[in-house]
Amino acid sequence: MLNIKKLQSILEQYPSFRSRQANRAVFRELAGSWGEVTNLPKDLREILERECPLAIEAEIVTADGGKTAKAVIRLDGGVVIETVLMRHRGGRNTVCVSSQAGCPLVCDFCLTGQRGFTRNLTADEIVGQILCFARLLKPEGERIRNVVFMGMGEPFLNYNAVMEAIRMMNDPEGLKIGGRRISISTIGIIKGIKKLAREPIQVNLALSLHIPDDRLRSRLIPVNKEHPIGDVLEAVAGYIEKTRRKVMIEYLLLDGINDSPDDAAKLVSLLKRYLRHLYYVNLITYNPTGKYRSPPRNRIEKFQKALEDASITVTLRYRFGREIKAACGQLAGG
Ligand code: SAH
Repeated sequence: MLNIKKLQSILEQYPSFRSRQANRAVFRELAGSWGEVTNLPKDLREILERECPLAIEAEIVTADGGKTAKAVIRLDGGVVIETVLMRHRGGRNTVCVSSQAGCPLVCDFCLTGQRGFTRNLTADEIVGQILCFARLLKPEGERIRNVVFMGMGEPFLNYNAVMEAIRMMNDPEGLKIGGRRISISTIGIIKGIKKLAREPIQVNLALSLHIPDDRLRSRLIPVNKEHPIGDVLEAVAGYIEKTRRKVMIEYLLLDGINDSPDDAAKLVSLLKRYLRHLYYVNLITYNPTGKYRSPPRNRIEKFQKALEDASITVTLRYRFGREIKAACGQLAGG
């Protein structure tokens, strides 16, 4: 797997234009091996191929008529992570990246956490997921436009590597993915929300709120005990004030758990109490992981209408990739 620090340390012994050439080859031309990078001298190519190869060990499966692809990537040491590519219309190719191998959060409805936590990913391992798909799309003349941190793991529990990866994606000489096209989704790690508000690169924030009641939320999302709803929403309000950016509130509908008119009313009152403006609700339908059920359509519509009646903007998340276990909550490594 890509190792940028090692690459830089090798290239330090060469004239500085070599480093620019190498960067261009990796992030712009999307080379899959140093052998392809013929503007570098042969001996250097050989050293780089030996010391920091560009190959990414990935197994790719597709679904939805080619619109969704899942890459199962094997990292050094045999750790396995998953990444998803969603090909929306008009070349809006979005990669859903993992920030951790596994997840320490153990949310009751999500398979990633149920399968345990292995380790944080490095910035290179995060960017490598994008390169993997960027290389795949290159022959079609298409590129990666959007990145969402909604794969395995909690991005704010791996804050520094996530930000380093974002700076790498941002590079106008490289992948050129603008901050406005990058979104971080968090379960509500308060410190992370506050830190993000102060970053010079502004990216989008999404909050996995899901349950509008502290007691129930703590049961399904154990981390809620340390990050209760009110404190999280206060941090989000601070983020909105500071950045003037619209925040996405994610709400996963679970049949008979959080989908009643009463739950909708609770959600409305929470949002109105803490957030004055610049937010919208994204309703997510449950992807089967064994424990819960998705509410019937009419209940989802009723829930949506209750929010809209309270003048809240609502979007519905299209579920990509269920058949290859690539949908939200289904990434489990293999
Ligand atoms: N840890 C971060 C990033 C993961 S994003 C976060 O919690 O936001 C993955 C999104 O899918 C989260 O909103 C998560 O709550 C949601 N999700 C988890 N399990 C799901 C399931 N079975 N069906 C649909 N969405 C699910």
